[in-house]
Amino acid sequence: MTGDPSEAFARLGDATRMEILDALAAVDEGCVRRVTRGFTDLFEATDAETTAGFSYHLRQLRDEYVEEVEDGYRLTYAGLAVVRETAAGTFTERFDHDPISVPDPCPFCEGALVATGEDNVLTVACDDCDRDVLALPFPPGGHATHDDEALLDAFDRHHRHRVQVFREGSCPECGGATDRAVEMSDERPRATFECTACGDGLRCPVALTVLEHPAVVSLYHEHGEDVRDHPVWNVGPEWTETVLSEEPVCVRVGVRVGEDHLAVLVGEDCSVVHTERTTVDPQESEAADPTAA
Ligand SMILES: [Zn+2]
Ligand SMILES: [Zn+2]
Repeated sequence: MTGDPSEAFARLGDATRMEILDALAAVDEGCVRRVTRGFTDLFEATDAETTAGFSYHLRQLRDEYVEEVEDGYRLTYAGLAVVRETAAGTFTERFDHDPISVPDPCPFCEGALVATGEDNVLTVACDDCDRDVLALPFPPGGHATHDDEALLDAFDRHHRHRVQVFREGSCPECGGATDRAVEMSDERPRATFECTACGDGLRCPVALTVLEHPAVVSLYHEHGEDVRDHPVWNVGPEWTETVLSEEPVCVRVGVRVGEDHLAVLVGEDCSVVHTERTTVDPQESEAADPTAA
C-alpha cells in the first residue's frame, strides 16, 4: 500500500489527532512502544469534548496511522514514527549554537577549532586558517539532550556510525540500499554514499570509512589506545591516504601507531580489499618506511 504524502500529512493537521497518537504510545523499559487502548479509554485520554467529534478524528487517522485490533486501537508503523519524530523535534525544533571550543587541533594548521551550530547543522571550523573542517547535520533531539561538553562526542559518534552503516551498504536514516564509490575530487579521493530510497548521502575522506575496521581497531588497542578517541574532524597525523590507481580507483590508507604500520587498501566500491601490517624499524628514518605516503 502506498499513500499520497500530502494527504497523509493533511490527516495529521489537528491537535486532537496528535493527542490520540500520543495516547497510543507509552514508555516501557526506556523505549517508546505501541499500546492498545479501547475506545472509551482513548477518548478520555484526549481533550475531545464529544465522542462524535472524537470518532471523527479517530476515523481520519485510520488506517494510515491507527489500526483497529481485537481489543481496541493501536498505532501502525507510520503512527509510531510520527510519535517518535515529533517527540524528537524533527519537524518543529531548530537549534543554533554559540561557538564551542573543540579540544582537538585543526588538521590543516594545528590551530584552534570551534564548533558552531545553525539550523541543526554543526560546523567545525578553524579560527586560525579560517577553513571549515566539516559541516554536518545533527538531529534536534541530539542538540536538545546533550550539554555542550557531551554534544561534540555525541556528534562524532553519530557520524562515525553513519559512515560505517553507509559503507556496509545501507542507509542509516531509512535502511535503503546505498550506492557506494570512491571518486576523485580536486585530485583527492573521496568516499561517496547515496541512498537509493531517501536520497540521504555523505562525502568524506576515505580514511574515515575504515575507522571501525577490525585491523584498525586492534592496531590502536594493542598500543593501549582507542581509535574512538580520534574524532572525525581530526583523526590524527598518523593517517595518510595514497592513490594507487585512478582507473579503477584504489586508495591505500596508511596508519602508523608506535612502530607498527597498517596499510588498508580500499577499492572503488569502498570495500577493503586488503590489509597489511608491517613493523617499522625504529633505527631507520621516516623516509625509509616502505609504506609511508
Ligand atoms: Zn587551521
Ligand atoms: Zn535512506
